[in-house]
Amino acid sequence: MIPVDARNTSRTCPPSAGGCGHLSADNRLTQARFQCTACGLTANADHVGATNVLNRAGLALCDVA
Ligand SMILES: [Zn+2]
Repeated sequence: MIPVDARNTSRTCPPSAGGCGHLSADNRLTQARFQCTACGLTANADHVGATNVLNRAGLALCDVA
């Protein structure tokens, strides 16, 4: 069990998905859609959250390869 602070995970532009790491509440357009206000990356918000949680846990995300 790895403790992960899940706060803001779905508001952070995910570097592992080509994002810039920018954190803003405005990144979260809706419950389902994420769009970074800094670099314009768009993604499914749940996927962004999961990606960032995995990063914080020190695990690699390989499902886009
Ligand atoms: Zn970004």
